[in-house]
Amino acid sequence: MNTKVFVLGLDGATWDLIKPWSEMGELPTFKMMIQNGVYGNLVSCIPPVTYPAWKCYSTGKNPGKLGVFSFVKFNPQTFKVKICNSIDFKAKEIWDYLGEKNIRVAIIDMPTTYPPKKVNGVMVSETPFPTSNFTYPKDFKEELDALGYIPFYEFDQLLYLAKDIQKVKEKLSIIKSRFKVAEKLVDEGFDFINLTIFPIDAVQHYWWKSKETLMIWKYIDKLLCRLLIKISNKFNEKWIFFVISDHGMRSYNQTFYVNNWLHKHGYLVLRKKNKSALTTDIINFILRKYGLLGSLSRKIFLSFSGLRYILERIYRSFDLEEYVDFEKSNVIATASGIYLINIDQKEKLKHELIVKLNKLRGEYGKILEVFPKEKVCTGPFLKESPDIFIVPRKHYDIKSFGKDVIGRRHRWLATHKREGIFIAYGYCIRKGHVNISIYDLAPTILHIFDSAIPYDMDGRVLREIFTKASSFYKKEEVYQYGRREILRRYVNKIKENLRLRRKKLET
Ligand SMILES: [Zn+2]
Repeated sequence: MNTKVFVLGLDGATWDLIKPWSEMGELPTFKMMIQNGVYGNLVSCIPPVTYPAWKCYSTGKNPGKLGVFSFVKFNPQTFKVKICNSIDFKAKEIWDYLGEKNIRVAIIDMPTTYPPKKVNGVMVSETPFPTSNFTYPKDFKEELDALGYIPFYEFDQLLYLAKDIQKVKEKLSIIKSRFKVAEKLVDEGFDFINLTIFPIDAVQHYWWKSKETLMIWKYIDKLLCRLLIKISNKFNEKWIFFVISDHGMRSYNQTFYVNNWLHKHGYLVLRKKNKSALTTDIINFILRKYGLLGSLSRKIFLSFSGLRYILERIYRSFDLEEYVDFEKSNVIATASGIYLINIDQKEKLKHELIVKLNKLRGEYGKILEVFPKEKVCTGPFLKESPDIFIVPRKHYDIKSFGKDVIGRRHRWLATHKREGIFIAYGYCIRKGHVNISIYDLAPTILHIFDSAIPYDMDGRVLREIFTKASSFYKKEEVYQYGRREILRRYVNKIKENLRLRRKKLET
């Protein structure tokens, strides 16, 4: 009787909402899991953004080992920006290792997984823009259709989600259709199931603590309860259940427009003729550029699927050069990082910017947490990383371009924070409180399945979540070393032997 693992990923789930609502009795399943399992903060990666955060979870590695640092990738040689997709991520995931051990896996709707890849089981991919061919194997789509699966376009986030009951119902049926797929896969005997609910990220950004958001959470709680009952009725199966988010969320009061600040201080030079086009954020310029300013015209526009397709194409790759004079600029920023360009004395400028950005204050105190890339990333893709990462402190959000350096809240009511949620519940899980890192889940899951842990994963096995009598607590972790690491260890061993021999000869 083997152990099975279910991971429920709730995009953007935060204790700021779940804790008070559970205590008030609105989310009884969450309350039960917290009381009978291990729970705490999950500290996300830097930057705490959906891309790369979900992949940091599934690989156990930091963005420098993945080659993706945000939703978009800026190429400092060509000055082009592109939306990242699953092919841009260059590391093996939990399900690749499990598949090699012939463990059957199912990955449903995790952002960063489009286009889907081959796994030992099924994959339904989510974002960016899974309009077609979003399943592995391809014909799994027919099974999804039969179950009433509703695809969710990341695109809908741009529609500014009118807060009406129709919109809420739409979200509920999207979420329900995903749980239905997961329940079917439990019945089909999968060993590892990863179900992610992505739409709540957008819901919380736009609606935050509203009664509509609570309605959606109550519905998730109910579906989760049904799933747990289903699993607990399978008496011959031992399930461990993880509930996690990719990052947390909180409300904020002011917006910091990083490129406006860089422009104001002479580091970034804009092209005059297009200056007026640089308002809100990058996505907004594209919409503005194509005359899609009003929300009504945008809705009409997006309702035509053909035109929608064209917009998707435009949005996938666009040219910043039309707005930014790269020849005269030393920097360009996305909302999570600053790239230094065209400059010989990079380190000097980097230091100067870090000092200045660290000091920045708004109405609510310091605005940013600032990290040089070496502090947060390691690995072969470090050279592709932004040179400086910026994370908003409490009360602030960061956007790339705006009308001014600091503004009021933009169209979102809430923004990301690093502290997400973590709950473990089920077979051999003890009760208590534990804070974890997003990188800890991959090694812990491999440990459960007796799969060797790659030595370059950044997390650790969460031994303390298991009961002391369990084998998961008692058994040693097994590490898997790459060829280069084996050689390095071998050379070190020879060196150490030589050193000892020399010491002996000296005495
Ligand atoms: Zn997210």
